[in-house]
Amino acid sequence: MIPDIRTGLGFDVHRLVEGRELWLCGIQIPHSLGLLGHSDADVAIHALCDALLGAAALRDIGFHFPDTDPQYKGADSKILLRNVAELLSKNGWKIGNADITICAEAPRINPHIPKMQQVLSDILSIGADRISIKATTTEKLGFTGRQEGIAALATALIFRD
Ligand code: MG
Repeated sequence: MIPDIRTGLGFDVHRLVEGRELWLCGIQIPHSLGLLGHSDADVAIHALCDALLGAAALRDIGFHFPDTDPQYKGADSKILLRNVAELLSKNGWKIGNADITICAEAPRINPHIPKMQQVLSDILSIGADRISIKATTTEKLGFTGRQEGIAALATALIFRD
């Protein structure tokens, strides 16, 4: 039998400000600026959550975890991702792979990627070789280039066998 295979897309942006910690893909990265948001503002995990929810046609991260809900104030986005993974699992979905691109002029992301893969692998219960994390700049162009914010895109493949 042919498995039911779906793909999903996620995109998110958060503003960079002084006086906030920078969290990306579940780890804290030393930097002079951090991302502003109701939760820890982990833009990469948010994009990944939306890719997974989108693949399953289960709405989006704001639908499940509204930023008006005090429960999610300062929330660790790893918990949101764990909740998304559980929701997919309850609906019979398994995760094939995920691919994330982080658009940031600074700081350098590449040294942190193996640790990020491990963190996401543990939460999603899939091999780290199924989680791709990539970093790019936008050549100093636009809001990411001016270091006003960080953007993240993600795709995910899910299946029922
Ligand atoms: Mg967000």
